[in-house]
Parts: sequence; structure tokens; C-alpha cells
Amino acid sequence: MESIKGKVVAITGASSGIGEAIARHLSALGAKVVLGARRLDNLKTIVESIVSDGGTASFRKLDVTDADDVIAFVNYAREQYGTLDVFVNNAGLMPLSMINSYKVEEWHKMIDVNIKGVLHGIVAALPVFEGKDSGQFVNITSVADRWVGPTSTIYSATKFAVRAISEGLRQEVSANIRVTLVAPGATESELAESISDPELKKLAIEKFRTDLLPASAIARAVAFAVSQPSDVDVNEIVVRPTAQKAL
Ligand code: NDP
Repeated sequence: MESIKGKVVAITGASSGIGEAIARHLSALGAKVVLGARRLDNLKTIVESIVSDGGTASFRKLDVTDADDVIAFVNYAREQYGTLDVFVNNAGLMPLSMINSYKVEEWHKMIDVNIKGVLHGIVAALPVFEGKDSGQFVNITSVADRWVGPTSTIYSATKFAVRAISEGLRQEVSANIRVTLVAPGATESELAESISDPELKKLAIEKFRTDLLPASAIARAVAFAVSQPSDVDVNEIVVRPTAQKAL
């Protein structure tokens, strides 16, 4: 993991779950991490804990639905540490519902955060990577980027979109810029909290959110991709709990 040491890594949605775990793990491996999300109290607590463990970390309030705010987040990372090496597009929501419950607001929110948020991350970080002709995107999708079932249609659609965007980005950028997609299966986090229908939330937790991976398992997958030599681009990693067979 030597090649992670000293890298500047900006992570969206780092106030809980997978983003928090990525920040903690990459920091433990020597990266300088910059955490962004809306819940400042969480970010402050996580950064204080990383720093007290000997790591280098900063945080900034971030709403990925606002392109200018994501640009300001990248600028903040560069002001803190002089450059940006890795941008982790992790922020996401999963308010599952049947299409015929017409939760249009929730569809819009998912599209705004899960798709537009990733595009805003690209708008913010790609000019930096192109300016120095190196850098890496790590886009966190889901096994729902290749699977769709009842209640997951819109969520899956957003993750299918991020998979498409990641593949197109990989092909368009220079030979020295890497694009990695990490697709987690069911993982411990606060994700199910975004399901607004109480019955559906209960069902999702009881039926699908069992045998969960610890978020650190996804962080290790990210570290694997980031730690490769610069001429090795790990394009896709799918990580499920061993017991997760159905989707
Ligand atoms: P969490 O709910 O724990 O984390 C989601 C993160 O996204 C939070 O830090 C939240 O921060 C942030 N976020 C939400 N909206 C915004 C916004 N507008 N601007 C900035 N940050 C935002 O869930 P996970 O850790 O599970 O989710 C992380 C990613 O992993 C998501 O993309 C999710 O789809 C994906 N994933 C998760 C799986 C799982 O089983 N846990 C499985 C497959 C994929 P805040 O509210 O403070 O802004």
C-alpha cells in the first residue's frame, strides 16, 4: 500500500458509512483525506478522531447537488494540501419505493445526488487531473448498477447511469487518468434511513439488509485500486457479503 502514502484524497458523503470508512482507512495508510458532506458535526468528530490517531484530515461542508459547491470543495482540498490525487464520488441516497407510489420528489433527490452529484464531482476534479495529467476517480455505485428489482427501479437507474458515466469517462480521459468503479453489496451504514415508507424500510432491513459487510470491507477495495501502480487502472470491483446470493 506504499503508493497511497501522501496522496490527497477528497471523499464526498464522508459523514457516515462507507465514505467515513474510506476516509479512516486511506488515512491509516498515509493519505491526506478531505471529507465533505452536509452534517458538519459528524465530519468534525470523524476528522478529530482521524487526527488523534496520527492521520492528516480536513473537512468542509458539501452539498453535491450544487456544482459550484463541489468545485469549492476541490479548491479547499488543494488549498489544504497543494494538490488533488483521488476524488471519491461516494455520496448517495436510496429511498426505495414502488413506481406506482409516485414519490416524484424522492426520484428527483436520487437523481440530483446519485447522478448529478457524480457529474459535479467530475466537473470539479477533472480539470485538476487534466492540468497535471494524473489522478483517479473512484465512483461508488452498487450491485444495483447491474441489477434491478421491485422498489429499486429508480435507485438502480441512478447507479446504472453512474456505471455508464464511469465507463465513458474512462475511455475519454488521457492515458494517465484512472477511473475505478466500486460496486458494494449490502453494507453497514445509514443508507436504509432514506426509505420513507416505514413498512418498506422494515422489509428492506429484515429481508435484504442482513449479513451486512462492514463498511471497512469497501474501504479495503478502494485502497486496493488506489494503491496500484499508476499504469494499472482497476476498472471495476464488485464486493458482496459471501451470503448475498440473490442480487
Ligand atoms: P450513508 O447513508 O451512511 O452515507 C451516505 C452519505 O452521503 C452520507 O455521508 C451523507 O452525508 C451523504 N450525502 C447525502 N446527500 C448528500 C448531499 N446532497 N451532498 C453531500 N453528501 C450527501 O450510506 P452509505 O455509506 O451506504 O452510502 C455511500 C454510498 O454507497 C452511496 O452512494 C450508496 O448508494 C452506496 N452503496 C451502499 C450500499 C450499502 O448497503 N450501504 C450498497 C451499495 C452501494 P450528509 O447527510 O451528512 O450530507
